[in-house]
Order: sequence, then structure tokens, then C-alpha cells
Amino acid sequence: MATSFNIIVGSQVWVENNEVAWIDGDVLEINDKQIKVACSSGKEVVTNLSCVYPKDPEFPECGVDDMTKLAYLHEPGVLQNLKSRFDMDEIYTYTGNILIAVNPFKRIPNIYDKTVMEKYKGVALGELNPHPYAIADMAYRQMVNEGISQSILVSGESGAGKTESTKNLMQYLAHMGGRSRADERSVEQQVLESNPVLEAFGNAKTLRNNNSSRFGKFVELQFNEKGRISGAAIRTYLLERSRVCQVSDPERSYHCFYMLCAAPPEVSEKYKLGDPRTFRYLNQSNCYQLTGVDESKEYLATKQAMGVVGISSDEQEAIFRVVAAVLHLGNIEFNRGSEPDSSQPKDDKSRFHLKTAAELFMCDETALQESFCQRVMVTRGESIKKSLDPNSAAITRDALAKIVYTRLFDWIVTKINNSIGQDAKSKFLIGVLDIYGFESFKTNSFEQFCINLTNEKLQQHFNQHVFKMEQEEYSKEEINWSYIEFVDNQDILDLIEKKPGGVLALLDEACMFPRSTHATFAEKLYQTFKDHKRFSKPKLSNTDFTICHYAGDVTYQSDFFLDKNKDYVVAEHQVLMNASKCSFVSSLFPPSSQDSSKASKFISIGSQFKQQLQALLETLSHTEPHYVRCVKPNNLLKPAIFDNLNILQQLRCGGVMEAIRISCAGFPTRKPFHEFIDRFKILSPNVVNISDEVEGSKILLEKANLEGYQIGKTKVFLRAGQMAEIDARRSEV
Ligand code: ATP
Ligand code: MG
Repeated sequence: MATSFNIIVGSQVWVENNEVAWIDGDVLEINDKQIKVACSSGKEVVTNLSCVYPKDPEFPECGVDDMTKLAYLHEPGVLQNLKSRFDMDEIYTYTGNILIAVNPFKRIPNIYDKTVMEKYKGVALGELNPHPYAIADMAYRQMVNEGISQSILVSGESGAGKTESTKNLMQYLAHMGGRSRADERSVEQQVLESNPVLEAFGNAKTLRNNNSSRFGKFVELQFNEKGRISGAAIRTYLLERSRVCQVSDPERSYHCFYMLCAAPPEVSEKYKLGDPRTFRYLNQSNCYQLTGVDESKEYLATKQAMGVVGISSDEQEAIFRVVAAVLHLGNIEFNRGSEPDSSQPKDDKSRFHLKTAAELFMCDETALQESFCQRVMVTRGESIKKSLDPNSAAITRDALAKIVYTRLFDWIVTKINNSIGQDAKSKFLIGVLDIYGFESFKTNSFEQFCINLTNEKLQQHFNQHVFKMEQEEYSKEEINWSYIEFVDNQDILDLIEKKPGGVLALLDEACMFPRSTHATFAEKLYQTFKDHKRFSKPKLSNTDFTICHYAGDVTYQSDFFLDKNKDYVVAEHQVLMNASKCSFVSSLFPPSSQDSSKASKFISIGSQFKQQLQALLETLSHTEPHYVRCVKPNNLLKPAIFDNLNILQQLRCGGVMEAIRISCAGFPTRKPFHEFIDRFKILSPNVVNISDEVEGSKILLEKANLEGYQIGKTKVFLRAGQMAEIDARRSEV
């Protein structure tokens, strides 16, 4: 973002700073390329002239509602603008058509309700305060007026406010596309009520967010030709399954477990539940409560919402019974049995939980125990029973808990979809995507790998849309346009996805060879990609690998990649659960087509996920995209703290800085000549008699006193804000 402004002694400038990213000050001296600045912190700094940006001396105190209106557009200006607005509780700001939402971590009164929705109805973007309703309205109008499907892509890191923004968007769309007197079971009401249900089973408290969605979600609202919602489909992506059995302090498992423990006594007694501290799957962490949340009320609220989305009370009973059974599974411990390398429930307590789990699953207790402690091996047509040691038995128990919970979650999603109903005749749709942002932690595993793949894909989509589309349009129109450089990430996608030979393909291969380990897998990666510029091997490890993502380097620990990529059901579990006397439980394990006496074939989670992503991008490619970029102002999850460095990093990762640059540097407003003439002929009525449209348009542009516009082959290209200027002239006439 080089600037052409001259910096002289006495100018106000921004200087790069390690703590606050940018600090303002006055220029004291300039010597060749060196500059001395008296910073507002009181310090004097000598730095390179190229590390300094001019500060807008007339920066409006309350900022501007669209970054493209900034007089001096650069990183410090963008930050200053977001901060000034954040301090006044203006949490939304546009960058052209992109909405930036900074999480306030407190309720802002009177900005989300039906009265506000009515205000945004049919009003052009930019006329009112930036708001998710305005984005939703733009999408809705474009769909109705132009008959094009739309999508709204909400992104940002964990805790940035994606799910909250998504809910606001959906509320607006439900309001616009709903019937005036919606009953409780209307499509739109069911779509809205699917949120608390999915959150109860798929959200958990993490370090980064007290209500973190542990799955990705794409909600597709289908509309009829009258613009009314006629159906909806919810697609979910990769529920984090390890959380069912493993939580680290101070995180929690899925909300539903705690709710159920706090359910009315007749319920918790029936399921033999009680204090969550007594359950192994929950007590690995010391966190049980969420501030401001009454779990017993949440339990009732969740049931209420389940009712609205069409889950009958019998089904609800079965769902919670299965949730309880999972908790009991976690309390079955094993010790060595009488034979060497064998195992059995450790004590009376473990036997009690085994019995209870079997009762709740309505399956055979002995068979349940055997499914943990023994494995049937089939070799050359003969089946032999092999005992498992206590450690393997515990792993098998956790595998059952995870698969049951994952299937339960998928069942709920399918059920919601069936009861809302799809409109096969629907002409167009609006999709809203709420999916995990880029992740880079101290340790990164397979989950982060998949999440970051998603973000690479979406970033490419974003790039293609914002950058390529703009540039292609400019080239096509042969207008003067200094090309903006942007980093294309196709090479990273190839590295991960290419078939054969990409990381995912090599992982699948490793999973199919019984003798592979994470070390052999890592070695294979090192060999294959030793010259790839997006791949490297960290010096101090022989099993980690680093990928240079568009948002930065991430080092992955390959340790659990093989295990986590394998989705299979232990054959004994399949048979046992399928034989359950509870039709609900047995329906979670429908008989599979493969021969159950054979060792279960593995299904690759990575490849499945890749396919899901491809389908998602295919859907998105038929829509006109809109973007909401959520920003998390601090890692303490507290109001009123605006952590510059942290925010800057998010703006860079989300492509916001690039998008700002492009929408400002470019010509965001364009109109075909005849439309332009038609709209502004009032400025010079004679133009309609000129046969040459280019000439006609030029006359009007001169009349309006504009500068810096461009004339393309078929359209007029205007700078940001110029349309409003001519519109104003028009009303003066
Ligand atoms: P994750 O990726 O972990 O699911 P997320 O981006 O979906 O994170 P949210 O759950 O939407 O994050 O937001 C986290 C919390 O921040 C919310 O529970 C809420 O307390 C607060 N929050 C987010 N947006 C708003 C808002 N617009 N107004 C008030 N509070 C908000
Ligand atoms: Mg979320």
C-alpha cells in the first residue's frame, strides 16, 4: 500500500511498532531515507522512511462506515478506523461490499430486532449503518430481482462471531422470506430453531470461545418464485469427534452432556446420571459450568427447540438415552483378566456402568463387554477370538463412544432436514456458510489440517471472485488498470489435494498399508515434497511437517494423522448396536453392505471431507457471493479491548487488506453506457439524440465534474463513491 503523499518535517505519521502495530507521531527530522519521529507514547524513534505512513490530519473522530471512504488508505488507517468505531459500539464497517464485524463481547442494545429489520428492507447498501441485515437484504433483493442464487460466506477465527452473525443473517432472511403470520412449525421457524439444537449437540466451551461450534455448517434456504422460503437444507462438516472422550482443562465436552446431568430428577434418575464430576469423559477438565448459563433451563429449551424441528418426544427420549449411555461407557475401566493379555471390567463400579450402558442402548450386556475385550479375527476362512489387553479395550470403548455420538449428530441433522423439507422445485437459494477459520496452534493435528484446507479453498474462491473477476472485467473492457498483485494459492491446494501424489492421497495410501506408522508417512512426505516451496521439514523433528499456507506457516504433528483419517466401525460394534431392541439405536447402525465377518474396510475421512468441500464449492460457484469477515478483538473474550496486532493478523489472513486495496484502487461502480445515459440524461437532456453512446456518456461525466473515472468498451467505470456524487447532481437539477 505505497502512498504518494509527501512526508515533510512536521507531518503527522504512523510508525511501525512491536506492541501496538502502529503508533502515531510527528516528524522531527528527515535525512535522506532516515526519519526521526516523536511518537505519541513520548518516545523518539528513528526509522526508515519506507516504514512510515502519513496520518490523515482530518481523520473524522467517529471514523468512516466504509473503508473505501478513507482519505489515506493503508493498514494503520484501517486499524484506526475500526478502533474509533469499535470504541463507539459501531462494530460493523464495510469494505466496499464486504462487511467487517468486530465482536463486541457484550450485548449492543436495539440493533437486532424486527423494527431494525424493517428499516433495512429494500434500502441500498451503504445508506444505513453497516449491518448484517444490509448484507442479507442485498442478497435477498439480488435473488428476487435478478433471479440469481446467492451465498453469504461468514468467516473468521474461533470466537470471532461467525455463528452470531449467521444467526442475524438467517433471522433477516426468515423475516423477509417468511409468511406474515408464521406459525411455530413454519419452514423459517424450523430453520431458526435448528440453531439451538445443533448448538446443544455440536458446540462446546473451548479456550477460544465459550460456545464454540465444533462443526462447519452450510444452511441453504430455498425460495419459490414469489421470494418466499419454501424449503431448507442444512449441511454439516466434520464434527470434532475426539472431544467426546477427551477434553483438556479448562475446556468442556459438548453442551448436551452437562444439560442432561442437570435435567429434572426424574430424567437424570432414569438415566442414572448425576454430578458431571463423576463421569470420566467430563472430569478430565475442571470446568463444568458456564457463566450465566443455567444447564437445567438449557435442557428444557433444547427439548422445546427439538420439538419445533420435528423431533418427536419418543425420539428425544432415545437421543438423550444414547447421550447418557455414552457417559456411562466412559466410566467402564478395564484391568487384566485371568489370561495373559486379556481384559475385563475393573470392579463393581465399572460393571455397574457397563450394565447401565447396555440397558440404555438396549443391547446385550455380555456382547457389549465382549465387543471391548475380544476381537474376532478371520484368517483363511477360520475365525478365532483374540483377547484384547486393558489398554486396547479402553481404546475400543472410546471408539464406540465416538462413533455413536457422531452418528447421533448426523441423525439429528438428517431429521431436521427431513422435517423442514426440501423444495425440489425451488428456483433459487441463499446459502449461508458458517465455517471454522484458519487455525495455527502450538500443536496442530489432522483437524487443523482439514480446517486449513477448507480455508485455502475458500480463500481461492474469494480470490477468484474479488480479484480475478475484477481484473478480468477490467482487461475485457480494456481499461487502464495497474494490476494488483495477489498471491494465488493453487500451489498449496495441489500440494494437499492432488491425485495421485498430494498429502491426502499419501495419507490414504499410508492408512491402507498395515505396517505404516506416522513416521513412515512423514518420511514419504519429506521425500515427495523435498523441493516443494510450500512444504518443509522442521529441523528438530522427524515426524512434523510444515505447510506454508496463504495465511502463514503451520507445522503439523503427524502422530495421529493415520488414526484420525480412518473412519470405520468395529464389526462387533456394528452387529451389537444393529441388534439393539431400541429401533432408534439400531437405526444408527444400519446393516452395512460389506460382509461383517471381514475386518471392516476403512473409509478415509480426509477424502470424504475433500469431496464434501468440492460439492460445497460447486454449489457456491452457481451463486453470487457476499462476504462477512468476523474479527475477534482480543483473546480474553472481554468487551472494550482492541488488540491491534492480533486484529491486523486476522485482517491479513482473511484477505481483508487485499480486498480493501482492490476495491479502492479499482472502479467498484460500473454501468453499461445505455443504462448510464438513461439514469443521468436529466443532467443534459440532449444526449439522448447523440447516437454514439461513448460520446453521450462522456458529456454526462463532464457535466457531473467527475475525475478519475474510466471508459471501457461497453461500460462506464466509476471510482468508489462517485455514483453517489452524480446521483446528488441529478437531484440538484
Ligand atoms: P467458533 O469458530 O468457535 O464457533 P464463532 O466465530 O462462531 O466461533 P460465536 O460463537 O459467534 O463465534 O461468538 C462467540 C461469542 O462472542 C458469542 O457467544 C457471544 O458471546 C459473543 N458475540 C459474538 N458476536 C456478537 C454480537 N454481534 N453481539 C454480542 N456478542 C457477540
Ligand atoms: Mg461458531
